[in-house]
Amino acid sequence: MSELPDGVERRQFDGESRLATRGEPVYGEPADGEWRAWDARRSKLGAMLETGMETGLVGGGTVLYLGAAAGTTVSHVADFAGPTYAVEFAPRPTRDLLDAAEPRDRLFPLLKDARKPETYAHVVEPVDVIVQDVATRGQAKVANANAQFLDGEGRLLAAIKARSEDVVADPSEVFERELATLRDSYEVLETRRLEPFHDSHLGVVARPR
Ligand code: SAM
Repeated sequence: MSELPDGVERRQFDGESRLATRGEPVYGEPADGEWRAWDARRSKLGAMLETGMETGLVGGGTVLYLGAAAGTTVSHVADFAGPTYAVEFAPRPTRDLLDAAEPRDRLFPLLKDARKPETYAHVVEPVDVIVQDVATRGQAKVANANAQFLDGEGRLLAAIKARSEDVVADPSEVFERELATLRDSYEVLETRRLEPFHDSHLGVVARPR
């Protein structure tokens, strides 16, 4: 099992050992007033940690998070990371994301399209980590378009959802295609299927070329 980043621990909730971060609850997860459970069934990054992927995450790093939705995962990230830029293009979940950001002074929601990094390049500084969970067609292209934000030693932690690319194709073939595109901008270090937490999703750890 790989190491957890500083600020992420295993804690007991309802008699079960769960990943947890320190912060205000966001999505009804069990909490004890200080720590809150990080539900890997609702978070691909949580599943990457649960399955033991070498994410290279350390506490305090700067993060660009693509596909933040209502803030389920990015709120956990902002609990242990440094400045965390959360890109989401749908206005409705962004309203909940703003609520999650309220008690988190390191979480910066951006109502932007991750396919157009030029629209937030003036705000986002070079980051240590890109976390991507956009679940939309062209997932590798989105990652490639944002590689410019990673510093040389940085990591891309991406979840690729097979059905967002092709609902009928064999997920393994879809993953191979997406990884081939990803290699235009990244060296892929590790991949792992995220079952049983998320069906037909591939976790990817990569670094910029
Ligand atoms: N990462 C979230 C979490 O764990 O809490 C869940 C993300 S959900 C699977 C995918 C999100 O990506 C949706 O909210 C969708 O609106 C957003 N998304 C898809 N394409 C996007 C794009 N081009 N730019 C920004 N957000 C995008």
